Amino acid sequence: MSSGVINRYKDFLPVSEKTPIITLNEGDTPLIPAPYLSRFIGIDVFLKYEGLNPTGSFKDRGMTLAVSKAVEDGYKAVICASTGNTSASAAAYAVRAKIKSVVVIPEGAIALGKLAQALIHNAQVIAIKGNFDAALNIVKEITKKYPLALVNSLNPYRIEGQKTAAFEICDALGRAPTYQAIPVGNAGNITAYWKGYKEYKAKGRIKDLPRMLGFQAEGAAPIVKGYPIKGPETIATAIRIGNPASWKGAEQARDESGGLIESVSDEQILAAYKLLAEKEGVFVEPASAASVAGVIKLSKRGYFTRNPQPATRNPQLVCILTGHGLKDPDRAIQSIEKPKVVKANVEAVIREIKVARSG
Ligand SMILES: *Cc1c(COP(=O)(O)O)cnc(C)c1O
Repeated sequence: MSSGVINRYKDFLPVSEKTPIITLNEGDTPLIPAPYLSRFIGIDVFLKYEGLNPTGSFKDRGMTLAVSKAVEDGYKAVICASTGNTSASAAAYAVRAKIKSVVVIPEGAIALGKLAQALIHNAQVIAIKGNFDAALNIVKEITKKYPLALVNSLNPYRIEGQKTAAFEICDALGRAPTYQAIPVGNAGNITAYWKGYKEYKAKGRIKDLPRMLGFQAEGAAPIVKGYPIKGPETIATAIRIGNPASWKGAEQARDESGGLIESVSDEQILAAYKLLAEKEGVFVEPASAASVAGVIKLSKRGYFTRNPQPATRNPQLVCILTGHGLKDPDRAIQSIEKPKVVKANVEAVIREIKVARSG
């Protein structure tokens, strides 16, 4: 079977015989059952682990299409503003396409792993003394005048590629989930998933649509508040965005699906981040944990029991885990105890071992 989201979902994507397929075999990520969360929340919970894409985030699904179309259209370089993962992905796919990449990032606000990726793939990285929203305005202006392909999620091909994750979830479950929880930053991804579910329904692949549950960080929650945030702040750098490009798409997903978009605090995000690692064995970056923080918050106020589904269906909840934990190693190290150093002998080591001994 051919690999990569373009090959697998060609019929749903704006490609033709003429489109060169620039791929790193992205997509086909696992939908992992979450027994701890299922017990905690009281319905079946699954984790869509998008951190297992080639560059460690879901951005690859959109980037394969955006870069393929840029090459088809004759571009020799791509440009993006980025909180990190878009630049890592753009840089890698540009290498595959043998074109150049330029990334504009907010100075000092990018997780270490992501910066390393852009640099090792030879992207030209330009840091600005400003935030993501300022970086996005700059690259938008530049691409109006210069022959660089914009590969932020304003690029409709990004959304088209990203919707394939919704197809995969439906293919795996044999139906759409009852609920889907997702972090919201620039809001391209929630827009993409909703588009994917609607298209699968239109083609008769699924009967029902999920309720879309979006979560922003409290200090970067423009959609929840209803106005752009000037200085967005959160430890979840991938969703530190004050004026989302796909604002309308997110509201549409929320309203058409009967879902919601709410905010979660950094404390709630970090608690969910640790819970995923300690209870489910899944390591994600902080922004990804916003989806789980959100469903824990909703479950505590009885949301999932107050919204009963038809008795014939046991409700299912899918949490989108957008990026890999290794993207942001600093955060992991800050949130745990440092390893203790002891003498190099059995007695010294055994004295420290806390696991109960069984006969
Ligand atoms: C980009 C990104 C997000 C936010 O997605 P949007 O489409 O901007 O809403 C969330 N988590 C991670 C890890 C990301 O890289």
